[in-house]
Amino acid sequence: MSNEQKTGTTTDSGAGTRSREDFAPGDAPVADILAIRLTDTTRIAAVQARLLAWYAAHRRDLPWRQTRDPYRILISEMMLQQTQVPRVLPRYLAWLEQFPTLAALAAAPTADVLRAWSGLGYNSRAVRLQQVARLVVADYGGQLPATVAELRALPGIGDYTARAIACFAYERDVPVLDTNVKRVLHRVFAGPEVPRADLTDRRLWALAEHMVPAGQGYDWNQALMDFGSALCTARKPACLLCPLHDCCTAAPTIISALAEQQRVRRHATRTGANRAAPFTSTTRYYRGQTLRVLGALTSGDSIAAAVTVTELDIMQPSIVFMPSALAI
Ligand code: SF4
Repeated sequence: MSNEQKTGTTTDSGAGTRSREDFAPGDAPVADILAIRLTDTTRIAAVQARLLAWYAAHRRDLPWRQTRDPYRILISEMMLQQTQVPRVLPRYLAWLEQFPTLAALAAAPTADVLRAWSGLGYNSRAVRLQQVARLVVADYGGQLPATVAELRALPGIGDYTARAIACFAYERDVPVLDTNVKRVLHRVFAGPEVPRADLTDRRLWALAEHMVPAGQGYDWNQALMDFGSALCTARKPACLLCPLHDCCTAAPTIISALAEQQRVRRHATRTGANRAAPFTSTTRYYRGQTLRVLGALTSGDSIAAAVTVTELDIMQPSIVFMPSALAI
């Protein structure tokens, strides 16, 4: 664990990692509950050990896990923002063939960079990547800095990416909090994150920092990410198979909710309640009818909603959103 973490101080100027004072009793009811849970060192050690053991058995073999090259980690992290792993894999390898180093990326024409990025979406990410490359070549001799604060100061590098590079390239024991990690930590320590999350991002960052096992930040963060995408998923968490189920706050609620869902589904299958509705009662049908009527109007025509309902042959107008009058 880094000195910053040991002393519990803020690690950079961003809105990310905060001190453990976040858990001080009397702050807020949820913080109190969390504070009590975080003093349960046996439980924390169990969560850490079981998750790391799960990761050792189930880790994904991804090309960016076979390197500590900060440039390669940067590329993978930028590509993985908003894009799924299977889509990133071929693009990542092709990118590194075309721009094998930060210096090669910095020197390339921006048009080539954008062309190489096309299909990954959010082209501004490619532009920012090249800005980072040029800045690092000019100011850092072509080597990405290792501290969260310096990384955070680069264009387009936010809290998450700065910590991901510090951890996955330089093996710093810093927390890395993506959507999957947030969900897992929330469920284990505070309960289900839906319909309303009890922990703010600020508290989740503090919790994530508290949980990083000393000297094992790299595996720990990768483990949390894989675990969140494979087992503790947003829609179908596999609580009954989960190695954390007996120390997870959300498990009892989620297990009974999933059982209830299954019971309702079985009942619907038995009674035929979920048989497909006729096409003429679907919103697609009503949409088609609406377009047919609107298409027959000429510029300046207007029709009242009541007429529209009759014209459209809508038997259940209550399920269709209609303004009181339509005009084109
Ligand atoms: S018991 Fe369920 S909710 Fe808790 S960590 Fe495991 S999969 Fe996630």
